[in-house]
Amino acid sequence: MKYFGAHVSASGGVFRAPEHAQAIGATAFALFTKNQRQWTAPPLGADAVAAFRAACEAGGYEPSHILPHDSYLINLGHPSAPELEKSRTAFIDEMKRCEALGLDRLNFHPGSHLGKIPVDECLARVAESIDLALACTQGVTAVIENTAGQGSNVGFSFYHLSEIIARVKDKSRVGVCIDTCHAFAAGYDLSSEEACERTFAEFDETVGFGYLRGMHLNDSMKPMGSRVDRHRPLGEGTIGLDAFRYIARDSRFDDMPLILETPDPARWPSEIALLRQFAGQ
Ligand SMILES: [Zn+2]
Ligand SMILES: [Zn+2]
Repeated sequence: MKYFGAHVSASGGVFRAPEHAQAIGATAFALFTKNQRQWTAPPLGADAVAAFRAACEAGGYEPSHILPHDSYLINLGHPSAPELEKSRTAFIDEMKRCEALGLDRLNFHPGSHLGKIPVDECLARVAESIDLALACTQGVTAVIENTAGQGSNVGFSFYHLSEIIARVKDKSRVGVCIDTCHAFAAGYDLSSEEACERTFAEFDETVGFGYLRGMHLNDSMKPMGSRVDRHRPLGEGTIGLDAFRYIARDSRFDDMPLILETPDPARWPSEIALLRQFAGQ
């Protein structure tokens, strides 16, 4: 079974996210559990948690089909100690918010070396950051998202993801989310069924489908290998529909959140309907 959804708004309270997901015909969704452009947020009160859980139940959303995303400010591989500390504190808070909401995974971008430390050192810092967060939370998996490789971001190569996982102590609570736009921008071909076959075989060999905890389904504005992260509606970018048809039909992507982060929310209902049609659902 496939679970398609989108990254929906939680403004007005986290309980709004499942309501928005239901309104667009989604069976999965992503959300920010706090303002993604701020470092701190007031803790979630018992009322907010209860409202969120009730809204999830009303919409039939299980934790395994919900993919919260952390703040864009966090850099778990930051080269400077005080900044790294600030990011780790914020990430632990995000993990605890997920724990409080009864969610089982948190999606994040691994980090950036900012040209100040080697890539390997940055990956080691990300892994240590994950270890620290896992040590003070329970039941939440840290889900590393591949990146487009913009600027000094690490995580654009499947090898980076596997290097981070290799260093994390508790492998039962680390996973990955593959963003199709990011993968394509990083140079992984997804533009045909054969290309998808090769790219996901490479993913399986390097990282392993056993670590896959979700997907971001986005077409790309820029060409393959551009290292530029610009999302487009499905079928209107340089990737094209073949990749999304391939993912919708392949059972290795069953039972996990498959999330649109495409730029036009008004089109999400029709994009979800198209994906469902591809999946034969
Ligand atoms: Zn992301
Ligand atoms: Zn993404």
